[in-house]
Amino acid sequence: MNKASFLVDSVLAALREVAGTAPVPLHAPEFQGNEWNYLTECLDTTFVSSVGKFVDRFEADLASFTGARHAVATVNGTAALHVALLLAGVQAGDEVLVPTLTFIATTNAVCYCGAVPHLVDSEPQTLGVDVARLREYLSANTEEKNGHCVNKATGRVIRALLPMHTFGHPGDIDGMLKLAVDFKLALIEDAAESLGSLYHGRHTGTLGLIGTLSFNGNKTITTGGGGALLINDGELARRAKHITTTAKLPHAWEYRHDEVGFNYRLPNINAALGCAQLERLPQLLVDKRKLYERYREALKGVAGVSLFAEPPHGTSNYWLQALVLDRAQAAQRDALLAATNAAGIMTRPVWTLMHRLAPFVAAPRMDLSCAEDLERRIINIPSSAVLGRELA
Ligand SMILES: *Cc1c(COP(=O)(O)O)cnc(C)c1O
Repeated sequence: MNKASFLVDSVLAALREVAGTAPVPLHAPEFQGNEWNYLTECLDTTFVSSVGKFVDRFEADLASFTGARHAVATVNGTAALHVALLLAGVQAGDEVLVPTLTFIATTNAVCYCGAVPHLVDSEPQTLGVDVARLREYLSANTEEKNGHCVNKATGRVIRALLPMHTFGHPGDIDGMLKLAVDFKLALIEDAAESLGSLYHGRHTGTLGLIGTLSFNGNKTITTGGGGALLINDGELARRAKHITTTAKLPHAWEYRHDEVGFNYRLPNINAALGCAQLERLPQLLVDKRKLYERYREALKGVAGVSLFAEPPHGTSNYWLQALVLDRAQAAQRDALLAATNAAGIMTRPVWTLMHRLAPFVAAPRMDLSCAEDLERRIINIPSSAVLGRELA
């Protein structure tokens, strides 16, 4: 046996020890609480669509769990991002700073506004925006004009910074808030992956102007499809509710709409699922943290690879567990992906970086070498909450 396959075999054995018998999905939802009760109530009362009590309750429960003053539920996380950017004043022809290491929803939402994603690098401790290097880059490449940050190369206004809390790990929010003030940027947090993650005790997605969540089927909790905006400002929250519900003015029977809005509301049936899922979220977070500990134990003796750990400034929800190969072992990534998937243990590389995707190859960017380095070395491994409980 050569050294290379020794690494693959050792990791595979460790994953088997924790995840048990194949097949093991990357992330499976579970419905062990009131999901059936609340869904039955929707069906029995016929309130399955745009009217019903579960939407209001889900929004109130989300606000209370996260500490945001207001939450507005949406049909998915991408729609929440789109509306967040519009409310932050992002206009056609603007640029928005987005990490290249993210899921395509983040950059797509920028394009829906007619704006241009300006890609930024990540750093290895949080897998989030590298604030220090972004500050240097902006200092050298932008100038202030009429109170706006302008890209000297393109002449376009850079309106917002849209960081993402990768795999649930909170990024350097204080650093980003300071950067946002210094460079006159709106800070919008893509917290799609970080429900339950805290930065110095405060919930991610509540620290900038607006934060967004996703309840897609692979997230920590799911509503089938769904998302939400977290907003502290009352007027902004009112605007968010208005434009996500076709901008309809309240009236007993008349259809009057005062602007072009969106049909982005979350159906009651999805919100019902969300209410039940939120009740179980605290337990899921305990289980996911336990899973991190089980993997750490199993991987202890395995050289050449480490398990990604939450940064010291926060508490992660450990949405997706990640292995990071040592640089010397990066060439083993594909062999490891092949061996684990062939064994029925689902693993995945990190998303293809945004600047390699056809729609964004020409996007403005800073040096992205850290994200490129991480891309070669990260592998996501099975992360369902159930794996954190003792296996039978
Ligand atoms: C899941 C996710 C979203 C939103 O996805 P939807 O499927 O539209 O709910 C946005 N950004 C990131 C980083 C995500 O992981």
